[in-house]
Amino acid sequence: MSRPVDAAANAALFIADPAHQETHDRLVWGMRQHRDKAVAAIPEWERLRDLASKLKEHTLTHLDRYLEQFEANATKRGAQVHWARDAAEHNEIVAQIFLDRGARRIVKSKSMLQEECGMMPYLAGRGLEVVESDLGERIQQLDHEGPSHIFVPAIHKLRTDVAALFAKNLGTDPDDSEPHHLAEAMRQNARPKFLRADAGMTGANFAVAETGGFVVCTNEGNADIGATLPKLHVASVGIEKLVPRARDLGVFVRLLARSGLGSAMTQYTSHFHGPKPGGELHIVLVDNTRSARLGSPEFWEVLKCIRCGACMNTCPVYRRSGGLAYGATYSGPIGVILDPGFDHRKYGELPFHSTLCGSCTEVCPVKIDVSGQIAKWRRVIASEGLMAPGESIGMKALGATLAHPATFHAAEAIGLAAIAHLPRAVVDNPLNPWTKHREMPTPPAETFRSWHERNRGGA
Ligand code: SF4
Repeated sequence: MSRPVDAAANAALFIADPAHQETHDRLVWGMRQHRDKAVAAIPEWERLRDLASKLKEHTLTHLDRYLEQFEANATKRGAQVHWARDAAEHNEIVAQIFLDRGARRIVKSKSMLQEECGMMPYLAGRGLEVVESDLGERIQQLDHEGPSHIFVPAIHKLRTDVAALFAKNLGTDPDDSEPHHLAEAMRQNARPKFLRADAGMTGANFAVAETGGFVVCTNEGNADIGATLPKLHVASVGIEKLVPRARDLGVFVRLLARSGLGSAMTQYTSHFHGPKPGGELHIVLVDNTRSARLGSPEFWEVLKCIRCGACMNTCPVYRRSGGLAYGATYSGPIGVILDPGFDHRKYGELPFHSTLCGSCTEVCPVKIDVSGQIAKWRRVIASEGLMAPGESIGMKALGATLAHPATFHAAEAIGLAAIAHLPRAVVDNPLNPWTKHREMPTPPAETFRSWHERNRGGA
């Protein structure tokens, strides 16, 4: 049985080092601020969000038709299309493609789907050497960690952490944390690997039903080199990545990088249509819980996600706890609503790793009601008895209090009197984690209800 992730304990480890917490919060919030500026420059932003949401909703409603259309058109262009029901099937298909062709050295560009499938350790177990070519992902690979952010996988690390890691693994100067030097060291290390690779792997941000092509958005151009230098290219594509027509891409490409990074576009928006001359292209269409989510009236909405990371950048919990605290492939608000769908028990605590402030819903470019989905997951986890015992008892007591007006009024009066008269140290002390970073507010002279009764006659 999977052990539940203890996100609070993981977060405590991260914030124990103030430099990491402060830098992470500042950098991630910086991306949110860049996003706001980029959005302000597009007068039709809200119309684009509406359009993107409706396009996704339409595609998901007719997903079977669009998937078949994509397969037929991709095949016509010379690609070989494979279908994977789950992560295990995906990994087996990919490994077999490589082994059958004698490919042993693979360069891959960042793909959250391949992370989700646990592909890297699986391929390593089958004797294949897989090297990440995205700088952030390569840093994480060298450190044996998963990505802590969808777009910027090593955002939780300080420059000095990277310098120490490179010194250990690449023999660079541990005291040189100048970003250009670090990037150059990685470039020198990666280039020979590109040149001798037997195959390249990518994910896909979008797949177009009417053309059978797909699009990969990156900022480093690593996906393009990996996909074009070796003859063999394997792309893993989640079935929710479909869009009906090529012209729909304009909507999503305009939203993606602006939402995540605040830039107009990613540096590279690469379109792949069939194999290169003399080469092979394999597209693995992956389900891995997506059909089940699509069939759920409560949770289908999450399939609209374009993995922009905007909800992570704005989330006060994510910014302060770091992505690795979630103990899952996906972190931040999108992780909170995706991960329990893979394993209720293991990720049951994650929906409570949120303040429900609603900021994620406000920034989501495809209008997913992220905070509403978090609340729905809380209900599922509570109804299955998977909440931590202390929380479960507390919620039951709260439910009983709120269900009876007399109990509620009595609790209200006791609470108000306690805040007003008890010595401050009873609440504001080192044993109470709630007041560690917060001031206890001065209580009002009376409750809203008594004010209302006095001024509005209790109507
Ligand atoms: S839920 Fe919305 S904001 Fe969050 S990653 Fe997905 S598309 Fe972006």
